[in-house]
Amino acid sequence: MSDCPSTYFDHGATTPLRPEVAAAMAEARAEPLGNPTGSHRPAQRARRLLEEARDEVAAHLGRDPGEVIFTSGGTESANLAVFGALGAAARRGSPGPAVVVSSAVEHPAVRESCRAAARWSAVTWREVAVDRSGTVDVDALAGLVDVETALVAVMLANNETGVVQPLHGLAEVVRERAPHARVFTDAVQAASFLDLAHAAAGADLVALSAHKVGGPVGVGVLAVRPPADIDPRQYGGGQERERRSGTQDVVGAVGLAAALRLAATEREDTVRRVGALRDRLAAGLTDRLDGVHRTVAPGVDVLPGHLHLCLVGIEREELLLALSERGICASGGSSCASGALEASYVLAAMGVPDEVARGAIRFTLGHDTTGEDVDRALAIVPGVVDSLRHDA
Ligand code: PLP
Repeated sequence: MSDCPSTYFDHGATTPLRPEVAAAMAEARAEPLGNPTGSHRPAQRARRLLEEARDEVAAHLGRDPGEVIFTSGGTESANLAVFGALGAAARRGSPGPAVVVSSAVEHPAVRESCRAAARWSAVTWREVAVDRSGTVDVDALAGLVDVETALVAVMLANNETGVVQPLHGLAEVVRERAPHARVFTDAVQAASFLDLAHAAAGADLVALSAHKVGGPVGVGVLAVRPPADIDPRQYGGGQERERRSGTQDVVGAVGLAAALRLAATEREDTVRRVGALRDRLAAGLTDRLDGVHRTVAPGVDVLPGHLHLCLVGIEREELLLALSERGICASGGSSCASGALEASYVLAAMGVPDEVARGAIRFTLGHDTTGEDVDRALAIVPGVVDSLRHDA
């Protein structure tokens, strides 16, 4: 975080690499590592570390190690889930044109995969609406899935708002009404705070990304529980049980396993502590500022680290820049690769009017957020907002 050394409220974008994780990765690197497919000592060592990491990730997800596919991150996992599951359904000879149903608030990794699948193949894509709180409407989902549905994608927790979806109930509806459908959940944001063995149990496919949970950038997982199946997206040496060819990033896998282990060990404390800090930040900002809306009403199930606000009369780009100059790192909630802020389809799906969504700001707290960080934000943010309003 060298550009932004002061106060970091952007854990939803990426989390700092935890020192314990860096230490586990350094230990893995300390002795020669071969290619895990080889037969000499360094290769055997790599294979052992990779399989130990796989066992640990599987235990964390409450799944068998054979279900865990290492990937390059959340985006690849989402693409593999969508195209892989649709490919497998086509191969099985699904009873009609394959239909993929996704929630209207999915991350672009899922949403754009669905859009591309619909553009390039005989797949029909339907989006299921969310209510004002950003929660998927169970009845709307029930009305959209049927015997032709091959895949239903509903994220476990939203990256912009932190809203946690009622995945168990949604998965049940899918199983009742769409017997051929597989359920995929993008658990990338949820992994730091939720017990995934329980929270993601209703999903056949689950995606994770290490850098959102204190691990390294560039490694992730897709877990695929039989009888769900995926066709590969990349072909080659047949690694990851023929489902994702390419030499595995052993050190990255060790880092992901270490990050998940830490998150699990500290979960109870993290959820309580981070949730209390987030609540204090929310209460402090709403007390000190006029014209501030909490995008998600209190009482809705939201990850403990997320606080999403809309500030009337504020342009979020200007606000984020002004805050950054004062050492506060927050986010507008959605950004494209150029870093430019885009209009949020998530907020639009929740029925937030455009003029309100213009002033959207997301604070995402993490395991390393402190009371001093919150004090600092409370001391700085209201003044910055007031002066932007004054200058407008
Ligand atoms: N899914 C969600 C919910 C995310 O928040 C992100 C990252 O912002 C991704 C997927 C993509 O993950 P990665 O950055 O590892 O490709």
